[in-house]
Amino acid sequence: MTRKIAIVGAGQSGLQTGIGLLKAGYEVTILSNRTGDQIRAGKVMSSQCMFDQALQTERDLGLNFWEHDCPPVEGIGLTVPNPEKPGEKLIDWSAQLDNKAQSVDQRVKMPVWMDEFERLGGELKLCDVGIAELEDLTAANDLVLLAAGKGEIVRMFERDEQRSRFDKPQRALALTYVHGMTPKEPYSRVAFNLIPGVGEYFVFPALTLSGPCEIMVFEGIPGGPMDCWGDITTPQEHLQRSLEIIRTYAPWEAERCHNVELTDEGGVLAGRFPPTVRKPVATLPSGRKVFGMADALVVNDPITGQGSNNGAKCSRIYLNEIIARGDQPFTEEWMQQTFETYWSYASQVVEWTNSMLLPPPPHILELLGAAQQSPSLASRIANGFDNPPDYMPWWLDEAACRDLINSHMQQGAA
Ligand SMILES: Cc1cc2nc3c(=O)[nH]c(=O)nc-3n(C[C@H](O)[C@H](O)[C@H](O)COP(=O)(O)OP(=O)(O)OC[C@H]3O[C@@H](n4cnc5c(N)ncnc54)[C@H](O)[C@@H]3O)c2cc1C
Repeated sequence: MTRKIAIVGAGQSGLQTGIGLLKAGYEVTILSNRTGDQIRAGKVMSSQCMFDQALQTERDLGLNFWEHDCPPVEGIGLTVPNPEKPGEKLIDWSAQLDNKAQSVDQRVKMPVWMDEFERLGGELKLCDVGIAELEDLTAANDLVLLAAGKGEIVRMFERDEQRSRFDKPQRALALTYVHGMTPKEPYSRVAFNLIPGVGEYFVFPALTLSGPCEIMVFEGIPGGPMDCWGDITTPQEHLQRSLEIIRTYAPWEAERCHNVELTDEGGVLAGRFPPTVRKPVATLPSGRKVFGMADALVVNDPITGQGSNNGAKCSRIYLNEIIARGDQPFTEEWMQQTFETYWSYASQVVEWTNSMLLPPPPHILELLGAAQQSPSLASRIANGFDNPPDYMPWWLDEAACRDLINSHMQQGAA
């Protein structure tokens, strides 16, 4: 008999998993609290830059509809301004990615994936799912996945105290989608500006509703000068504040912005949330189980741009494990094991991302500085975004990091 699976949430992980399951012959229902039209007409939700390995999970399911229209992100650059000499750079390097990254506005992507899900025979229901609906879903399906991102409902999963390093937001976040920015030459990139004591500003090309654009991402240290969005009342004010910040803290980026305009009135966002890890299984009053995935369980600060990448990779792991399960029941033990398989990857992303939220230790400052002298080291750092476990153990281990720096510096000198 065909196995029935329900998924709550029509975002990166829910839709990717739902479509994958349909293609594998399952009967799938997705419940979303917004229609495709509402998502398209709403505000931006993310900067959603995805690297090659995550993009490959989409390609494997035939979901790469924007591969040719979306401008590529070809590299990663890092700039640290000189705190002693305003307007000057202390560190400045960039390296090409071995394979391009891409960012397709979720307002473009999710409505099309929703249509694709229905075209393939999935049932898409509009519903703001609560406990009562989860009771019905668990009674009627072999498995219920909760892929509701940062929705209130994910609080039903207990916070994992041991795996959650922070209990408060670590950055005040803002997004500004613009047209008209001068491109980075000779290759496009995530231009990452690390401004000590203030926060981070990064910017890269993407595809939005009105075509190619650039996404400006602000990560302000709480209480600092980049934590400055509370009094903004209009999208135009948001744009003006964005420009003021970069004129002050990253003037070389402001040089690219003489002709920018907002992509649309929905092209702005401000907010904050604490990076959190939750336990993967929730028990309903009936005793039946709900299994979480992606951001519902592991939500990272966007500083390293990994959330959608994690969502795609989590989806691939869950899909493989569901299929491998055959017709055996989806027990709590199976859910725990499946999550641990994902966690063996995600824990390394979490550690790396969390480390970026704290003042950098001396070995990381040395590493970032050395990359300016060593193109191979710069390349190693840039390409780690595609697979953050590549940063381990040296990102966190001082001695291993110094060995890595030395080996690259010697390579350069040889
Ligand atoms: C400012 C910012 C910048 C970011 N930049 C990047 C980046 O550059 N790269 C990257 O990889 N990631 C980035 N992310 C993270 C990325 O957007 C998320 O990690 C990713 O979208 C998570 O996917 P998901 O499937 O878990 O949840 P989501 O994509 O959030 O989808 C969840 C869905 O569930 C729905 N939902 C919620 N509650 C209910 C309910 N009760 N009933 C029914 N439906 C419900 C929501 O409406 C939503 O559609 C960024 C995030 C932010 C906030």
